[in-house]
Amino acid sequence: MPIALDPLPWPRDALAPVVSAATIDLHYGKHHKGYVDTLNGLIAGAEFEGASLPEIVTRAKAEGATKIFNNAAQAWSHTLYWNSLSPARAPLSGALADLVAQTFGGVDALASRLVDAGMQRFGSGWVWLTTDGRSLDVLSTSNADTPMADDVTCLLTIDVWEHAYYVDYQNRRAEHLKAIVGLIDWPAAGACFERERRRAP
Ligand code: MN
Repeated sequence: MPIALDPLPWPRDALAPVVSAATIDLHYGKHHKGYVDTLNGLIAGAEFEGASLPEIVTRAKAEGATKIFNNAAQAWSHTLYWNSLSPARAPLSGALADLVAQTFGGVDALASRLVDAGMQRFGSGWVWLTTDGRSLDVLSTSNADTPMADDVTCLLTIDVWEHAYYVDYQNRRAEHLKAIVGLIDWPAAGACFERERRRAP
């Protein structure tokens, strides 16, 4: 079975005007699909064929299989990205809300940290909220890199490659980031945190 391009969790115009349908068509339909298609071409009949996507990401990084890693990591990260966003603008509650308040001072302060991390990333990359089930961290990675490749659990991610915002915001990355943090699917991050909290020793 080849690696699948997972469907979007909402209609292509659901995040407009922050993320237009035109951006979705390009970003999901061309970039994300391109990473998945390229990956499937690279692994066909070779070592990683039949492995799960997370397994390919971690093994390719460990083995220094750069081209496979780049495409696998981008395929995985984009799926988390789409699932980190929602038009619902639902608030965060539960254990993650408590820990966010304790760690950052609240959801708005965390959102500012995510924006800052995106602004400090030079060139292309990603911003992440990560956890070990007990604590939280905001970090950013360059190009295709992801904390998941080093077995770090990612609760949500924001794409800071230019292709994520150039159609709608041109070069205005800060403006885009400030808008997109308003579309974070906090309940999804909260559910992911609950799973990790139960697994933590
Ligand atoms: Mn992207």
